[in-house]
Parts: sequence; C-alpha cells; structure tokens
Amino acid sequence: MNEFDLLVVGSANADLVVGVERRPAAGETVLGSDLAVHPGGKGGNQAVAAARLGARTALLARVGDDAHGVLLLDAQRAAGVDTVGVLVGGAPTGVALITVDPSGDNSIVVSPGANARLTPEDIRAAGSLLAAARVVSTQLEIPLDTVAELVRGLRPESRLVLNPSPPAPLPAEVLAACDPLVVNEHEARVILGTDAGDAPEEWARGLLALGPRSVVITLGAEGALTADGTAGSFVRVPSPRVDAVDTTGAGDAFTAALAWRLGLGEDLATAAAYAVRVGAAAVTRKGAQDSYPTADELAPAAAPEVPSP
Ligand code: ADP
Repeated sequence: MNEFDLLVVGSANADLVVGVERRPAAGETVLGSDLAVHPGGKGGNQAVAAARLGARTALLARVGDDAHGVLLLDAQRAAGVDTVGVLVGGAPTGVALITVDPSGDNSIVVSPGANARLTPEDIRAAGSLLAAARVVSTQLEIPLDTVAELVRGLRPESRLVLNPSPPAPLPAEVLAACDPLVVNEHEARVILGTDAGDAPEEWARGLLALGPRSVVITLGAEGALTADGTAGSFVRVPSPRVDAVDTTGAGDAFTAALAWRLGLGEDLATAAAYAVRVGAAAVTRKGAQDSYPTADELAPAAAPEVPSP
C-alpha cells in the first residue's frame, strides 16, 4: 500500500443544479435552465482540494454503480486522488438537487444514497488504507456509526480531523479523538446551543470543554481561530483579502489544507495560516471543486499571526 499524506473518509455527491426565475411553491411546476452537474459532497471536495495542492491523497467513500458514480470517480482521478478506497454499489450515488434563483437563494434536497451505505464494516475492511495515512479527515455526511468505527480503527500515531457537518450530537469517544474539531460559526452555535456566547474565543473554550484535543473555528473573510487544548493557546489567523465570488466549498478546501499541513508536522496555527490562503483562493472562483487552487495559485503568506486573549 502507498503511503498517503491524507486519507479523506466521507461523502461524494453529484450536485444537480438548475437556475430558476422563482423557486416553485408546493404543487407548482416552474421551467428552469439547462441542468449543470458538478462533483461535490464534503468528502469528495476535501480529497480534490488536498490533491490539487500536491498532497498524496486517498478517498474512502461509496458511490453507486451508475453514471454519477463514474463522474465522481473521474473527477477524483483527474485531481490526482487515489480512488482505491472508493466502493461502488449498494444504492444510487448520492445527489443534491439544487434550484437557484437570480438572487442566489437556493433550495436543496439531498438524497444521501450510497453515502448512507458506507458502513462500519466498510471501515473495518479498509484497515490497510487507514494504516497508510498520517492524517484522516472526515465529516458527518456519512453515518455517525461509521465515523465512530473510524475513530476506533485509527492507529495511535494517526491524527483525526473532523468537520462535524451537518452538525449533530457527537459521542464522547469521537470528540476525544478530534485534533482538531473544525467548525464554522453555524456549526459552533448548533453544537454549543443557546449558551454559545458571541465571541469566537468563547465558542472555542466551550468546544474544548466537550473534549477535543484542539479546535479550529473558521470565520469567513475574517480567517480562523485556532485553539490548542494541550498548549492552552488561542491564535487568530487572518485570511488574505480577496473579492469573494462564490463561497461554496470554501470550508472543505480549508479543512483539507489544514489536515494535510498538520500531517507534514506544522503546528496548528501555522497549518491554519496555510489553510486560510487556500480557503481565500477557493472563494475567488465559482463552484466547489472547480474553484480549488493549486499551490502555485495561492496568495503569498501573510505576516505572523496575532496571539488572541
Ligand atoms: P464554510 O464554507 O464552512 O461556511 P467559512 O465561510 O468560514 O466556512 O470559510 C472557510 C475559509 O474560507 C475561511 O477560514 C477563509 O479562509 C476562507 N474564506 C471564506 N470566505 C472568505 C472571504 N469572503 N474572503 C476571504 N476568505 C474567505
């Protein structure tokens, strides 16, 4: 088995997008634009983002034995992702049915399909893939039982990065393995509930109290906040200033870049300083996977980070 810098365990979806003048009400039919089909899903996005930056990346996922599955596998391979861990069959490929109106507001129906059939047994069968990766990155668009089995199957020297999206209550054994737990503002607020507070530093303290070894909170144009539970240090990491065109998939690109750089041995704030450059580059172009930069396309590194109280 090859050595991988990063193993992504997660979802792969075909995003089916139709532009409409007005999103339909109940019982209504509206005509829309030609259909556009884009490769997506948080797992697929993260794997493509890392591979495009130059990380040796593998994806463990499940797609259907259908045309969307072929499209997703092709997109992964074109970016340089090793797809030996992509299982095929059991249900149709996951799809997101997306209608977008002229103001950019959208309505989305997700059919998880094959993603919901990525089982704990599939994780147990992928032991050699798990053993070949320094860092494992996952999200919650696959069953929580599968994520929990992944945590149990990790080698002690492997590092787990978890983006709990869509946010859901997490078992203590999963939280304890996160190094870091990566959330955006929305995910932080859902996980913390009504007592979340208003400052990212408060969210970070609240999240650390749930048990992860470290926490990273992404803050859109403001960059990110890192909180290292062991060192007790909080660092604000500013993002490069860019003209944002489309923020779809920016968090996935950020998290993939962060996970890869942690596996190379960088500390949390240094890895986040790299990841904000990747997230910022991703928002300057339309789409998710289509928007992800190569290492050559990143803005220069910013001035050193500012310690945060
Ligand atoms: P999500 O996509 O999960 O909602 P964020 O919106 O926090 O997550 O974005 C993730 C990262 O993408 C940020 O940490 C930042 O690096 C980058 N980013 C997002 N929006 C912008 C923006 N408007 N300008 C510059 N960078 C951005």
